[in-house]
Amino acid sequence: MRPDDLFADDHRRRLAAGVQRALRPIDGPQDTHVCIEGRVALCLCSNNYLGLANHPAVIEAACAAARDYGVGAGASRLISGSMRAHHQLEERLAAFKGAEACLLFTSGYHANLGVISSLVGPGDAVFSDALNHASLIDGCRLSRAAVCVYPHGDAEALAARLRTVPARRRLIVTDSVFSMDGDVAPLQAICDLAQQYEAMVMVDEAHATGVLGPHGAGLVEALGVGPRVTVQMSTLGKALGGFGAFVTGSRALIDFLVNRARTFIFTTALPPSVVAAAAAALTIVEREPERRVRLRRNAARLRHGLAALGYDVAGADDAHIVPIVIGDAPTTMALSGALLEQGVFAQGIRPPTVPEGTARIRATVMATHRDVDIDAAVAAFAALRPAAARAAR
Ligand code: PMP
Repeated sequence: MRPDDLFADDHRRRLAAGVQRALRPIDGPQDTHVCIEGRVALCLCSNNYLGLANHPAVIEAACAAARDYGVGAGASRLISGSMRAHHQLEERLAAFKGAEACLLFTSGYHANLGVISSLVGPGDAVFSDALNHASLIDGCRLSRAAVCVYPHGDAEALAARLRTVPARRRLIVTDSVFSMDGDVAPLQAICDLAQQYEAMVMVDEAHATGVLGPHGAGLVEALGVGPRVTVQMSTLGKALGGFGAFVTGSRALIDFLVNRARTFIFTTALPPSVVAAAAAALTIVEREPERRVRLRRNAARLRHGLAALGYDVAGADDAHIVPIVIGDAPTTMALSGALLEQGVFAQGIRPPTVPEGTARIRATVMATHRDVDIDAAVAAFAALRPAAARAAR
């Protein structure tokens, strides 16, 4: 078969299954509203939770860094790309997380691959929540350790696996806030089990950093389990509005990763503008806790509005991720398309991102949405409720 015939065949299969995906260009900046396919729509599906992606102070910091230090780091960190700004940001992020040390990565995806494949290998076992993010799953696969998937959020099932699976080294990996479900991991119980079974704990704080905890440091901070977590991974591309990721833990862990994590070693360092943007965003996270409060308020307003309409809204009551579970992929995408017609951009999420039969609209609010924005979103969902309910039957 010619390669293009192969691709076309796969395309046909995807179309038939209702899982064909396509890129949709956005014109203009990421904000509460975006310009998509020629129309301005309320954005209800970005991870720009605090509204920092288009914040004037963050933009100015990025521009100034580009002017002063250029647009590229020129090399990987271990060659000649380790600029002073990387080190300064790492120190600030370590303090923010209450950790000894920090290491920047190019993205959360890189960080998860690099960390897991460094911490465990053949002869070891990694215990992974069934709904963990794809980058954690891929990190587990890359490590070549035995992978034990435990049912979502089920500490008892995790305990059973820890008891029975023999391994030289053990690592438990979990999202803190689950990206497609908005619920949180039972971190206290996981840390208790880790202690009992001498396992390391890795927590992916991608959706919690900047959002949860008294200082916005994440779920680990909120639950006070920092000293019991071996390694935290956080991203700079979500609540912090920019791009990149960072890993925090002990100084010994960070030294280990500098020398072992191939996705850190063999890639170009983050550009100065990206680093400066993250530093400016961190300052706002530290100084403006009201953004986190507003985010939660907006999420609650949306969640209650949708639940009152009879939609199946998943996740914790105060979660900033508001999944509206529809079921089958075509109905979900039809609802997403109809919402856009109504001026609301809320992307449908289908398998393999979520389990079969649980396709959903993953709605996310921003701290900068106004009450009228949330109410407009609820009104758009209300107008479509009869069609969605009919299709679901
Ligand atoms: N972990 C989780 C839980 C995520 O949701 C994501 C991004 N969707 C990542 C890791 C990857 O982060 P990045 O986008 O920085 O690669």
